[in-house]
Amino acid sequence: MRYKGKAPRAANVVRSQNMASIRSKGNKTTEGAFVDILRAEKIKGWRRHMPMLGRPDFVFRRSKLLVFVDGCFWHGCKQCYQAPRHNADYWARKIGGNRSRDAAVSKSHREGQWTVCRIWEHSLRDRRKTTERLRKFLRRRTS
Ligand SMILES: [Zn+2]
Repeated sequence: MRYKGKAPRAANVVRSQNMASIRSKGNKTTEGAFVDILRAEKIKGWRRHMPMLGRPDFVFRRSKLLVFVDGCFWHGCKQCYQAPRHNADYWARKIGGNRSRDAAVSKSHREGQWTVCRIWEHSLRDRRKTTERLRKFLRRRTS
């Protein structure tokens, strides 16, 4: 979407509503898709919504494993992320900030003896590969 000169106020409002719906929808689909995989693969021992730094999507306490399922847009996936043309500076700062926060969160948990597994939204399309990767993480600590 391109505007000549200053964007009309109404357009800004519409845009922010769009972004809000992308955000909430994105979270639901990625996290929900991962729940579906866990259930289908009969992988147990996880909890959601634990009040921990960076709000991990899934916590496997016995395996000391934290799983973050990262949306390709919001977390700035190198393969998928395409910067919006409008408000480019805003998005560069916003997504750049998210990326560095993710890295800081992972680092902090790893120092605190957790294993951290970050799964990109796009990799959920390959369920077999994603499951294999997760099982490897789970085996690492339990065996
Ligand atoms: Zn991606």
